[in-house]
Amino acid sequence: MSDKKDAFVTEITPRSEDFSRWYLDVVRRAELADYSPVKGCMVIRPYGYAIWEHIQRMLDARFKATGHVNAYFPLFIPEGLIMKEKDHVEGFAPQVAWVTRGGDEALEERLIVRPTSEVIIGTMYAKWVKSWRDLPILINQWANVVRWEKVTRPFLRTTEFLWQEGHTAHETAEEAEDETLKILALYKEFAEHELAMPVVDGVKSESEKFAGASRTYSIEALMGDGRALQAGTSHNLGQNFAKAFEIQFQGRDKSMQHAWTTSWGVSTRLIGGVIMTHGDDSGLVLPPAVAPHQVVIIPIPRGNWKETVLPTCEAIRDELTAAGVRVKLDDSEENSPGWKYAEWELRGVPLRLEIGPKDIEKGTVFSARRDTREKAALPMADLTTTVKTLLQTIQDNLLARARAYREEHTTDVSTWAEFTAAMEGRPGFLIASWCGSAACEATIKAETQATLRNIPMNSPRVDGTCIKCNGASTVKAWFAKAY
Ligand SMILES: [Zn+2]
Repeated sequence: MSDKKDAFVTEITPRSEDFSRWYLDVVRRAELADYSPVKGCMVIRPYGYAIWEHIQRMLDARFKATGHVNAYFPLFIPEGLIMKEKDHVEGFAPQVAWVTRGGDEALEERLIVRPTSEVIIGTMYAKWVKSWRDLPILINQWANVVRWEKVTRPFLRTTEFLWQEGHTAHETAEEAEDETLKILALYKEFAEHELAMPVVDGVKSESEKFAGASRTYSIEALMGDGRALQAGTSHNLGQNFAKAFEIQFQGRDKSMQHAWTTSWGVSTRLIGGVIMTHGDDSGLVLPPAVAPHQVVIIPIPRGNWKETVLPTCEAIRDELTAAGVRVKLDDSEENSPGWKYAEWELRGVPLRLEIGPKDIEKGTVFSARRDTREKAALPMADLTTTVKTLLQTIQDNLLARARAYREEHTTDVSTWAEFTAAMEGRPGFLIASWCGSAACEATIKAETQATLRNIPMNSPRVDGTCIKCNGASTVKAWFAKAY
């Protein structure tokens, strides 16, 4: 049994030393993603893709449960179509990839590779909607999109990425707003319940809203380095796209009206959020809900272990699997147990079970939690129930820990001096009064790099003075340096 690989954990830069380097080390060493020969594009490796599949499955179930259906629209959008919504074009133009040739012929009309699909979907809705009876349309698409990025980072910002984009059309302004907020709440519940990632849900400022939207709402999470991550957005598009693409219907009063539309999305960026919310110096820490393997079983190879220990390991694996637990039995012979402990810790497996001849004699299994590193002997009797309870405990603990971290790194500030001092020192969220002016927002960003993340939902009216200009203010906004 060779222990020569035991030292590999040093390949991960400590978080405190260089967070950005730590992140890239974890992504690479845990085999979540790899760089590709295409600049700015990553390969999502099987271990990373498995996390995405769990995210997809759990989100998709929530979309279906709220009345949405899936469909698929083309990857390409003709140039003429994208020009129809002026703000939208201006917002996305710098990031658009163009197709100008097909085979050896120049195209009569250039195509763009979709950066988002409002345009192509709006065009189709205009064909499908004739009467108020055709509404609402509640469609989601799982797809890839392309945004030409200058600086990229795996999962957080890549030229091509995977996401879901919901596009809905409604009869009234109220219904569109209800839909926008329903999805925002769905995203928040999903992020907290499944990813154990606490988020602040709120409305974006005018300057941070989606190109062409009336209002953009977002969920914002706080990463382990004190920077915020926009983890999902839900846009109320008003009648802007309906007017540009002529999504019109005959109303109940027989008058012709424009529909009210929404769009909303989350992406593979969520995986980056999970890594940076929970990870530590030993690598990845995965919430059980999205972990490809929730439990890893490691047999202790003593004596004729294949006859004595292995059958017990297999029986436990089979019983846990039958109970719906995702289990990996690592019975490979080329690596020592010590190497396997470190490897599966690095890959963030929530719970490790070690089983040797002595454990079998005592009727116990030795367990180690990834989140707290707590170790305990568990009785073999009723092990499945114990394991399922432990996994839920780990899931809950990760959320509680992330919430406590966010609370420790959220500061209410009332003067500009406090604001700048906090931004230079301990990073995190700053809550401050803001007058509503885009100029103040821009100055704050220029002087501190902090951006207005959002104004939380149901914020009470607070009469105060703007953190930047001392003008009258009625709201408190959340600011942070952000990814
Ligand atoms: Zn101001």
